[in-house]
Amino acid sequence: MHRTLARPAFDVETVRKDFPILQGHVWCKPLVYLDNAATSQKPRAVLEAVDRYYREHNSNVHRGVHWLSGAATKDYEGARDKVRAWLNAAGREEIVFTRGTTESINLVARSFLRPRLKPGDEVLVTEMEHHSNIVPWQIVCGEAGAKLSVVPIDDRGELLFDEKLLTPRTRLFAFVHASNALGTLNPAKDLVRAARARGIPTLVDGAQAVPHMRVDVRDLGCDFYAFSGHKLFGPTGIGVLYGRKELLDAMPPYQGGGEMIRRVTFEKTTWNDIPYKFEAGTPDIAGAVGLGAALDYLGALDAEALHDHEATLLARATEALSAVRGLRILGTARRKVSLVTFDLEGVHPHDIGQILDQEGVAVRTGHHCAQPVMDRFGVPATARASFAFYNTLAEVDALVAALGKVRELFA
Ligand code: PLP
Repeated sequence: MHRTLARPAFDVETVRKDFPILQGHVWCKPLVYLDNAATSQKPRAVLEAVDRYYREHNSNVHRGVHWLSGAATKDYEGARDKVRAWLNAAGREEIVFTRGTTESINLVARSFLRPRLKPGDEVLVTEMEHHSNIVPWQIVCGEAGAKLSVVPIDDRGELLFDEKLLTPRTRLFAFVHASNALGTLNPAKDLVRAARARGIPTLVDGAQAVPHMRVDVRDLGCDFYAFSGHKLFGPTGIGVLYGRKELLDAMPPYQGGGEMIRRVTFEKTTWNDIPYKFEAGTPDIAGAVGLGAALDYLGALDAEALHDHEATLLARATEALSAVRGLRILGTARRKVSLVTFDLEGVHPHDIGQILDQEGVAVRTGHHCAQPVMDRFGVPATARASFAFYNTLAEVDALVAALGKVRELFA
């Protein structure tokens, strides 16, 4: 006899119990945490994995013959295997642990791009980049006499991509998978394909994409993919650079020190194999362990159900916020991750943020490290509510009610 296995419904209240901080209060009001794009909250499984690591396995990795060092190395390298599987990378040596997206991008700028850049060369980015996907390229372009070129965006916050922007002088196309300032989800696979057709390498900034979707780097076809653990429900201080093996192999080290060497003499030093060539010094072992635990936790949830839930949150927030008098949503792309950026006529975003805070609602205000986006829309700053799968429709309503108070105060 066959039994039909129905997919269990996604129960947000059950999931929320896994996140201790979400049970908390601020200013005597229940916390409504809508700043997930800045950093997301950590499930108990991550907190316990980090705690267990320090209590039971704390030691330095790779270099010790004693039992604890072996245990720590197993934990750390086990986390690398989990990231490899999560991204569907071809090999574990393609996964470099870094401090976060910012360091991953700087590594590529220094070790991959800088040696290849000549005067007159170009690096293509988009107008919706986070500063960390602009400034590292700008620095090496400045050193080499190369320049940045930019894919513009339209009024909805969608890319106005034209293949002509990929020129014979383009040495790299670096673009954001999902925009932290607008929420736009870019057609990463198409963009990579256009670049590859011209032999141009690609780096995808996945900081805001990975918390919302499964990413398959082989399916994307990109050369580099960068993300941060702390936005993916893991600890701060740990991040990932995925890089294609043949490129990483050919790149010089990023930093010098222990671990990244094979043999050191005063005359000459030779490098370790990848990924260790790029992991100088003692790594954030506990961070890697916590990131691995975050992936295990996410892997046990129903990805499709999470996605549907976030889509519902986004739809409700977009509809309800659009009805607030004087509120304008910046970023109305057809494909978005679950965040809404807005301004409110006659109210400075920082005042919005402070009044919402008094209501227990945490949103981010400012330029979101994307000043070119602010310039594009002619504003100095905005407010941003960004959702994770553990947010509820009631929290969207709490945001809207709190904005009603802002409106009253500034009537
Ligand atoms: N890229 C994007 C799109 C981001 O949203 C962020 C952080 O907000 C970063 C890069 C930088 O990430 P991190 O500060 O974790 O290095």
